[in-house]
This record gives sequence, C-alpha cells and structure tokens, in this order.
Amino acid sequence: MNILVLNVGSATLKFQVVVTDAERMAAHRDDRLIRGQIERIGGEAIITCRSADGVPRKRTAPLRDLRAAVEWLVGFVTSVESGTGLTSRSELHAVGHRVVHGGERFQRSVAIDSSVLHGIEDTIELAPLHNPHNLRGIEAARAALGAGIPQVAVFDTAFHQTLPEHAYLYAIPYPLYRRHKVRRYGFHGTSHRSIAYRWRTLTGRERTDVRIVTLHLGNGCSACAIRGGESIDTSMGFTPLEGLVMGTRSGDIDAALLDYIAAKEGLTLPQVEALLNNQSGLLGISGLTNDMRDLLAEADEHQDRRARLAIEIFCYRARKYVGAYLAALGGADAIVFAGGIGENSSEIRRRICEGLQWAGLHVDAAANASLIDGREGRFSTDDSSLAAWVVPTDEELLIARDTFRVIAGIETT
Ligand code: AMP
Repeated sequence: MNILVLNVGSATLKFQVVVTDAERMAAHRDDRLIRGQIERIGGEAIITCRSADGVPRKRTAPLRDLRAAVEWLVGFVTSVESGTGLTSRSELHAVGHRVVHGGERFQRSVAIDSSVLHGIEDTIELAPLHNPHNLRGIEAARAALGAGIPQVAVFDTAFHQTLPEHAYLYAIPYPLYRRHKVRRYGFHGTSHRSIAYRWRTLTGRERTDVRIVTLHLGNGCSACAIRGGESIDTSMGFTPLEGLVMGTRSGDIDAALLDYIAAKEGLTLPQVEALLNNQSGLLGISGLTNDMRDLLAEADEHQDRRARLAIEIFCYRARKYVGAYLAALGGADAIVFAGGIGENSSEIRRRICEGLQWAGLHVDAAANASLIDGREGRFSTDDSSLAAWVVPTDEELLIARDTFRVIAGIETT
C-alpha cells in the first residue's frame, strides 16, 4: 500500500510516501519512495525533497495556501519528475496525518470520518496553534485525492493516554480538570512509541518487557518513562512548554513567574507565554542561538560563558528527569536517545550520562562517538546495569504503518 504521510505546520508541510503492508512490516522492509518538505506556503514556496534514487531535488512554486500546496504535492509525487516511480494519483492508496492533539477522546490512531473531524475540532481549544492546520491538511488531501481516499489520524498525545491519574493530574483544584480538562497530555507520543518499538526490535524483547526512559532531544525536547510498552509518565504537559529545556522553550518554571514577569516587563500574559515558548530555553540563556550545534561550537571555540551555561542547564535538566523516571519506573533497562541532538551529539549524550554512574550507567566513549548520522546502537559498557542507546526516531514510518493497520483492521498499540 502506497501511503502519503503529511505533517502540516503553520507555514511548512513535511511529506513522505511510504510503501508498507503486513509482509513488509514483519520483515522491516517498508520502502520510502520520497521524503521532503514544502516551506513558505503562502508565497513562492520552496520544495526540497529526496526520493529513493537518492537525488536531492529543490525547486520553487507559487503556492498560495495549504490546499494549493497539497494539490501541487499530489501532482508532483505522481509525476516522473519526482523519481518516485508513481505515475497516477490512483497509486496513492491512503493518507496518514500527524495530528498534534487528540485530547482524552483519541487513545489510538483512527480512520477519519465526520465524527473524528468533529472530535479534532473539539480539541482546537487545547491546541489552537496546531490542530487547525492539521484539519486543513485533512481537507486539502480530500480535495486533491477525492472523498473516497482513506485517511487516518495519528495523534501526538495518544501514546500518553496510558498515564495513570497520579501522573497526569496537576495538584490544583480538581474541578478544573472536570470542567476544563486541565491535565497533562504529553506530546511527541509518536516519536517515543517509535523509539520504544525499534529498541525492542533491536533487543529482541516482547512489548510487555520494555522498561526504558526515552529522551527525544531535538528543537523540542521531552522525556518519557515507558513500562510494559506503555507511557507511564512524560515531561511535556498541558502544552509542549513543560519539562525539559528546549531550543526556545523554558520547560519547567514556577507558575508564579508569569505574573511577576508581566508586571516587571509591562507585558500581557499571552506575551509572557510567547516569551517562554519562543525566546527562552537555549536561545534565552545563551542570547545567541537555539541551535545546539552552534552553541557547542561557541562554547568550544570562543569559550562563550552563556553558551556553556545553556548547555550545562540543558544537560542538568535532562539528567534530573532521567533520575526522576528511574524512580517512577523502579529502575529501567536502558535510556534511549533520539531527536536531532540525541542522535547526533555524542558530547551532549556524554554529559547527560556522566552523572548517572550511580545508576550503573558507564559510557563507552568510542561507541558513543561512533553513533551519529542516523546510526543506531548501544553506547554503554558491557558491564553497565543500565544501558544507554541511540535509536533514531521515525515518526513518519509509524504514521504510515498505523495508517495501514487502521485500514486493514489490525490493532494499533
Ligand atoms: P530536530 O528538531 O530533531 O530536527 O533537532 C534539531 C536540533 O538538533 C538542533 O538544535 C540542532 O542543532 C541539533 N543537532 C543536529 N545535529 C547536531 C550535532 N551534530 N550536534 C549537536 N546538535 C545537533
């Protein structure tokens, strides 16, 4: 089955075409015909992609809105020019969408029908920046491929719906949960699920035998405690702002600071929230950049004090969360790193792991250094009782597989 995977953001559309079915899944031989993104939708959009022939392609097209972008994309991936080998729209069999928020209603991936669309609309209040784009993506795909094309929604929050009450409730008046659904939802669920699945495949374990801490460290960052293959705690909360230090997000802060900063800086509360989301984290501390690569270079080449501090705070917070989740799990078998930073920076991995010798984790420096550029494997020493791994995340593959499973009536977990 050829599946178009769409991940729609405010001005960017990421896409892939994945070929999968039961046989391919079992043999881990899903094929990727193309992957890429369309940026600057609304004007002269820039399309960059790479198809199975390995040739990178870059071009521009005037795409006034998302509908025009999806229409163009469907035409492109089924043209000779794209290198996918597809020649007609009817060769696209289904569409899988990343949907950011599924609230409490969506606990797993679902086929999109009018009731699901209403359910996603109902969660707009919880994710006003994301879900409207996701809905527009679904409408655009239907316009481009016809109402008959099966479409599946894969939610970022769904994997964390297994969190127990004591982990998802905030210690604030309970009626706020009942009245307004104020609780921790967690995000990056598709990524944590993808990492956990790949880790158990690599280690030959049953799903019920998975007890790990996953660290998705990219521009957004989150940690997840996984037991019996299920998420039992995660660091993002009601929104993706909570938890670890991120590229531009503060992660955990004292809630009383909102009012204090607003008063001192003459800002409104939404402006303070924007400051915590867009001007904080690595960028806020360093005053330089949200890009970890550049920060490491600044710290190393120019001994920039605030770049060093930003890196130190980033690693310290991540290590604290690992410690907390080891306690939540009653011990774990491994810590698994993923995301742009987790998959590429042996330096950051080393610094996070450095304070975890007490937990039985000892880093094999050579193995750690070798795990970059999408390579997967273990980098703890053989005698470590807590292992450390790098397992690149593959959210798009999971979305494609879930799309196939939902259409084929196979349970998704
Ligand atoms: P993502 O959001 O998963 O694409 O991750 C983006 C983050 O990964 C950015 O902060 C990048 O600087 C960081 N990153 C990518 N490659 C490296 C690297 N080799 N060393 C350190 N950070 C990296």
